[in-house]
Amino acid sequence: MNTESPAFWMPFTANRLFRDAPRMLSSASGMYYRSADGREILDGTAGLWCVNAGHARAPIREAVARQLETLDFAPSFSMGHPLAFELAERLARHAPSGLNRVFLTNSGSEAVDSALKIALAYHRLRGEPQRTLLVGRERAYHGVGFGGMSVGGIPKNREAWQSVLLPAAHLRHTHDLTRNAFALGQPAHGVELAEDLERIVREQGAERIAAVIVEPIAGSTGVLIPPRGYLERLRELCTRYGLLLIFDEVITGFGRSGAWFASHQFGVRPDLMTLAKGLTNGCIPMGAVLVDRAIHEQFLSGPRAEIDLYHGYTYSAHPVACAAAIATLAIHEQENLAGRAAQLAPQWQRCAHALRGLPGLIDIRNYGLIAAVEFAAQPQRAPTRAYDIFCKCFERGLLARATGNVLAFSPPLTIEPAQIESLFTILAESIRATP
Ligand code: PLP
Repeated sequence: MNTESPAFWMPFTANRLFRDAPRMLSSASGMYYRSADGREILDGTAGLWCVNAGHARAPIREAVARQLETLDFAPSFSMGHPLAFELAERLARHAPSGLNRVFLTNSGSEAVDSALKIALAYHRLRGEPQRTLLVGRERAYHGVGFGGMSVGGIPKNREAWQSVLLPAAHLRHTHDLTRNAFALGQPAHGVELAEDLERIVREQGAERIAAVIVEPIAGSTGVLIPPRGYLERLRELCTRYGLLLIFDEVITGFGRSGAWFASHQFGVRPDLMTLAKGLTNGCIPMGAVLVDRAIHEQFLSGPRAEIDLYHGYTYSAHPVACAAAIATLAIHEQENLAGRAAQLAPQWQRCAHALRGLPGLIDIRNYGLIAAVEFAAQPQRAPTRAYDIFCKCFERGLLARATGNVLAFSPPLTIEPAQIESLFTILAESIRATP
């Protein structure tokens, strides 16, 4: 690596800071990365919420290699290949009931933009073309496409492009430490925040709104767990006003919450669902939109020879990604990884909350195999203390994820109880060692 002026422009990175102190990974297996200087690094983040089945799984690797030898690429525009259909069937089998039509993309961002486009086109087809307003939520992350940016609620991610975003309104976020700090699992307070949708309906008119998109558990701004009853209430309101509810399950999918999907876990069924990351265990880029069958039917009501959705990607249903996804689903089925996450969740929660009392910690939150610790803001400090602790964790052999004043953890669901103990031990030591 040319540390003076590297050619690689890293995404979502303070490139100059990284250049001064690079952290490089060279290989991965099971629960561990190996750093370029040969150290074992416990993967506390499943890469970037992707590697739910653990690293370098042989069945996935072998399926990918076989696929490259058999059919390296096939177009999906007016052509098919069997793995695409098999993957869609298998995904539909695990999806919430009725969400059994599958549109394939290459990333979470593309899945989100595809879902929003499907929602808008659906209303147009049903004779309500004025439903063009999208509703997102403050502090939401839905990727970096123009659709995802528009409904996203992270100011920095929107700032440079504000003037060209799609029309969108934002619900209030649900993060409220005055009432919910150190909650175990779902916070008790905040169900009424779902009523904020009523405000948007009043201000904008229900008949102008196409869809509401939320992450069941928001990840990127530091793990925001939905208050009890919140998602249920949002569902009721969307149904009442004829708004499509989209769950962005890019990080909550594939066992993370203790069920296949957070939708199952919270007992709330959306109309569309976006997936990516864990779909291929992170090893090949792929995303998906699960679509309610009734919505899909609407697209089939036009002339038979007409293309029913003018949308798709060259790499939609890429055969190698399909092979990786099918092998990944098989591992989830055989090893019941969602059940494993649910089983480990009590120990995970106990270990996370044992950090309470460490200096500067103002919240600990958790759900399934997700945890976050939040530090008191220090506006004059840059980088943040959370970032410095993330660096310290890496030195001590743990991969964490720093976002603002929060450190988030979401390990592979194959983590062992002893590794949970060491994850939180390293974290505690790193917090103590970082004033
Ligand atoms: N939606 C959510 C909830 C995410 O967390 C992410 C990525 O972290 C995305 C969408 C975007 O996915 P990708 O980075 O694959 O485009």
